Amino acid sequence: MAKNWYPVIDYGKCTGCLTCVNFCPHGVYTAENGKPKVSNPDACVEFCKGCQKICPAGAINYSAEVSADG
Ligand code: SF4
Ligand code: SF4
Repeated sequence: MAKNWYPVIDYGKCTGCLTCVNFCPHGVYTAENGKPKVSNPDACVEFCKGCQKICPAGAINYSAEVSADG
């Protein structure tokens, strides 16, 4: 199932604080090797920007808004 709204992590900016992993109530993220992993993109709520707002590093964008595929 192709969904075009889910978070894309910029690992160059991400500090590994895991705030996003703990914040998302929909289980989109899991932690892997101390970094967030978008394990369940289909669970992301369309147009939600909750995790982007709370990321202290500005490392979260959304698939519909990034042209390059990480
Ligand atoms: S909140 Fe931002 S900096 Fe922290 S783990 Fe998530 S993406 Fe990385
Ligand atoms: S955008 Fe919302 S639903 Fe999607 S991962 Fe972030 S907090 Fe969870």
